[in-house]
Amino acid sequence: MSAPRVAVFGSVNMDLVAYVDVAPATGETVTGTAFRQVPGGKGANQAVAAARAGADTVFLGAVGDDAFGVELRENLVAAGIDTTGLRTVTGPSGIAHIVVDGRAGNSIIVVPGANGEVVGTVAGDRELIGGADALLLQLELPMEAVVAAARAGRALGVPVHLTPAPARELPDELLESVDVLIPNEHEAAAITGRTDPREAMTALLERVPEVLITLGGEGSLYGTRDAEPVHAPALKVEAVDTTAAGDTFCGSFAVARAEGADPREAMRFAAAAAALSVQRPGASSSMASRAEVEDLLR
Ligand code: ADP
Repeated sequence: MSAPRVAVFGSVNMDLVAYVDVAPATGETVTGTAFRQVPGGKGANQAVAAARAGADTVFLGAVGDDAFGVELRENLVAAGIDTTGLRTVTGPSGIAHIVVDGRAGNSIIVVPGANGEVVGTVAGDRELIGGADALLLQLELPMEAVVAAARAGRALGVPVHLTPAPARELPDELLESVDVLIPNEHEAAAITGRTDPREAMTALLERVPEVLITLGGEGSLYGTRDAEPVHAPALKVEAVDTTAAGDTFCGSFAVARAEGADPREAMRFAAAAAALSVQRPGASSSMASRAEVEDLLR
């Protein structure tokens, strides 16, 4: 069987992560305990997840003409991803400035930079999208660009998967071109106003044909309009860093479905990939290879 083809149109950021015991208040300076610079962005993370899961993956997006842009592109190339559709634009690359406070949790500032420059680019990328078995979208790009990509996917007959993160109101003009919506439970609640995932699913299924809600350590819930929802458990593991767990899950699920797996099998595969990633620190760098996932499932 030849590898499925996955196209990802999304964000690519450099994550600048500072660790502190207590985050500074406004006007205060504190000494941190560690610093890490790691490639991130939900789009790039999903692309690496799809590539690790075994797909021929093409990434569409933009980096800046700075040193981060060079490193971000190299990271995707090193993962075996086709970057024909990754533009280099004038100005800074996207960054996420993350403060990890040992007690209170994370605070994050995302500066989109080059990610904001992708409006109007999809028209030139139709050939890259057209050959794919799945198109993966998130909401870290301008809405206008995401809508254009979803429409292109639909017109080209490519199943459109949308991770609605960061959560925001979803316009009908977007959802009418989406086949599979993949929120986590918090995003599902923010979009629908229902905190119960099954109720949120019912509400979301009025707007899209397939919904997959991820539930962190509780697994995931998949539903369509004409069948009872299917629940798949998460694997019981010691999580050390759940960054990009959802992106790992989403990329792996889409690849398994593109290979013909039924939803339950695809959720099991994705849960194993995500379980391996949460046991290691990092975003895309913590994602496991297909061989490791298959070993775990044996
Ligand atoms: P997000 O990263 O978008 O918030 P979730 O937290 O829902 O997404 O996680 C996505 C998937 O990753 C879950 O469905 C589960 O399979 C896996 N996962 C997340 N946290 C854990 C955990 N603590 N233990 C095992 N698996 C986990």
